[in-house]
Amino acid sequence: MLMPYPWQAQAWRRLQAWRRGGTLPHGLLLHGPPGGGKVDLARAFAQGLLCSAAGGEGEACGKCRSCGWVEAGTHPDLCLVTFEVDEKTGRVAKEIKIAQIRELIEFTRLKSHGVLLRIAIVHPAEYMNRNAANSLLKTLEEPPAGVHLILVAHQAARLPVTVRSRCQNLYLPARASDAAVDWLRRQPACRGIDPAPLLRECGPLEALRLLESGEWGARATVLQQAAELLRGRADPIEIASQWLRLNAVSLLTCLESLLTDVGRLKAAGREGMPVHGDLLPGLLELAKALDFSRLFSTQALIRESRQLLERGANLRQQDVLEEIALHLALNPTGT
Ligand SMILES: [Zn+2]
Repeated sequence: MLMPYPWQAQAWRRLQAWRRGGTLPHGLLLHGPPGGGKVDLARAFAQGLLCSAAGGEGEACGKCRSCGWVEAGTHPDLCLVTFEVDEKTGRVAKEIKIAQIRELIEFTRLKSHGVLLRIAIVHPAEYMNRNAANSLLKTLEEPPAGVHLILVAHQAARLPVTVRSRCQNLYLPARASDAAVDWLRRQPACRGIDPAPLLRECGPLEALRLLESGEWGARATVLQQAAELLRGRADPIEIASQWLRLNAVSLLTCLESLLTDVGRLKAAGREGMPVHGDLLPGLLELAKALDFSRLFSTQALIRESRQLLERGANLRQQDVLEEIALHLALNPTGT
């Protein structure tokens, strides 16, 4: 049975109040920072709506045929639209296309199979291209009876105003709430780790991913390696090959986040409130070793490389990481 996460209790109550009052909007926009489990919330809510034996709080029974279909992703009255994956190359599309929204509109026109509801979830909705978003407008304005569209977005501001204004907005903060801290603390990957700084950086699910993948644990090593490169005490090619053991995008994201902290410390001293406060001595050392112009050029190079990799540019991860290690090792500071 799909359930809302503990930090979504307030949003869940809001959704259920709409359902009970018969005022559930036909266009709903769930938005908030990534890693907060917004799509999971939308699916749990949809499962409850479609369930033939839902509880008083709108929770699904988890046992009926409808619940089984939702969990298997095969419910004929639930349609999830997201990035397409190319079957041959495995590449994930970078936007949601008009053909997908046309299919969604066709879906809303079909007759429902079960409880006279049809629900479509679009995620992440801000990645609909302009034509796709425009083609959705009419359905948002005059949805067929029993149709509910749930748009899920990390950055609602990137959606056209015309789309946003036709939806009831529900914001999911998802960051360091007590419920999120408690939940993360109970995860095996969090044993012996203080989850609070991690939750200042990202939503709880992204935090769990960072812990489970070892990326959070690798920060101290990455920071130390960057410092050694700057001092001219490490071989950039050797460091790059060690970095290659982590996924390159993860490594670059980690370096970016550490260097953002270095910038905060340079600009405001300890008042800069670094996210990685547990690594303060290493961050201060880096802040001393990097002048602003070197810091900015390094950050720009890392950001550019990460964006290229995320866009699926044809680059060897090793080349990208070597370029960054060499950039750090250039003109050692000798401190
Ligand atoms: Zn059920």
